[in-house]
Amino acid sequence: MILTRNPATGAELARYRAHDDAAIEDALAATAAAARDWATVALDDRLTLLLAVGKLLTERRDTYAALITAEMGKPLAESLAEIDKCAWNCRVVADLAPGWLADHPIDSAATRSWISYEPLGVIFAVMPWNFPFWQVLRFACAALAAGNAALLKHSPDVTGCALAIEALFTDAGAPPGLFRSLIVEAQRVPSVSARIVADARIAAVTLTGSERAGAAIARAAGAALKKTVLELGGSDPFVVLADADVPRAAEAAARSRFGNAGQSCVSAKRFIVVDAIADEFVAALLTEIPQIGPLARADLRDTIVRQIEQSVAAGATLLTGGTPVDGPGYHLEPAVLDHVTPGMPVFTEETFGPAAAVIRARDDDHAIELANDTDFGLGCSVWGEPEHALAVGRRIRSGALFVNAPVASDPRLPFGGVGRSGYGRELSAEGVREFTNVRTVAVA
Ligand code: NDP
Repeated sequence: MILTRNPATGAELARYRAHDDAAIEDALAATAAAARDWATVALDDRLTLLLAVGKLLTERRDTYAALITAEMGKPLAESLAEIDKCAWNCRVVADLAPGWLADHPIDSAATRSWISYEPLGVIFAVMPWNFPFWQVLRFACAALAAGNAALLKHSPDVTGCALAIEALFTDAGAPPGLFRSLIVEAQRVPSVSARIVADARIAAVTLTGSERAGAAIARAAGAALKKTVLELGGSDPFVVLADADVPRAAEAAARSRFGNAGQSCVSAKRFIVVDAIADEFVAALLTEIPQIGPLARADLRDTIVRQIEQSVAAGATLLTGGTPVDGPGYHLEPAVLDHVTPGMPVFTEETFGPAAAVIRARDDDHAIELANDTDFGLGCSVWGEPEHALAVGRRIRSGALFVNAPVASDPRLPFGGVGRSGYGRELSAEGVREFTNVRTVAVA
């Protein structure tokens, strides 16, 4: 039995019966059969399905947004924006996938040679609760456009969303078995996931979540020699240089850090500001802190509170917030910590909650050294005169560099990290091709 709770109140929302072994076997068989058929469907017809999914998302946006808010706590406006982004992704993939998946001619010793991007089979996806629709739709649109079927193991916290997404694909006209959600009790997840990864009917695996979950899935996939795409955590630097537009940077900093109550892999986490503008930046940041929703679970709030407390004990200055709000639900006052230094938990660990860590740098070289002092490498945002910021940003290791803008995902641009942030890419041509057999064809 899986029980979901409303993070704003702690009250029970619903109980779901978990799938037993027979139901899991049925899902594996159904997705494998669907994958065989779908691979023969013309690309235009596959993309027609995505357009229908996008249209339904828009029609049902209020219902889906309310479900997201009920299950993981983000404010309704953010949930509506998440649904709208999913619908946009459907349209972008439908529009651009013909180019992304077209045969790619290559000059070689052959008379004719080219690359063709062919389906792999069933893609197993393990997804988290923080963007319960977006994380799934961004994977599923790519996988299905490329001619694969999808088997989802969503986070139990958002079981209602997992089932709603399965129904969304069915209602949009997906053939039976093309998209299936598995409902698995938390204590069975490691063993069931490992068994599914090893199953011969699964072609590849994608996971978004913690390093712990990523390592477990990659271990199982390694043993079974299956391809994986891992989108794990981040500790993204947000670097503010002496020639930055400080008020604009502070406004973007607050939006990036506190949106989704800080529970985003690419939210800015370490604010590395050069001494010359540090006081001005901190003062501006304090005026920009928004109203936020609760954290998604009690243990996630406990973790961020522990990170804040240990950092303060190690010498950081807590300027505001950081205290759990009394009463029901998992609310936490947004926190800003100044004078953070390497080694403190808010510097070295991923902070998946509303805590902004300000680190003061002597100059550009020091800022770059601090930005690179992490095992993660997802996004990086640098603020300053554009050429100056670009030059600094080029010396920072990350999967994405944004200059004078916060890091954000865009269906047209690749998304993913280096180091402990994972490997492989989602979205764009790169993301769609992750789920293909990049096949060489040569005619003598
Ligand atoms: P998890 O990584 O545990 O959860 C993400 C998904 O992975 C869930 O569906 C989860 O299922 C599944 N999972 C966990 N362990 C395994 C396993 N051994 N085999 C297969 N699947 C597994 O994240 P949490 O919810 O516990 O959050 C903890 C931390 O993870 C956060 O504080 C944050 O740092 C990071 N995180 C990063 C995200 C991102 O967007 N990059 C998203 C969410 C979390 P189940 O819950 O049933 O275990």
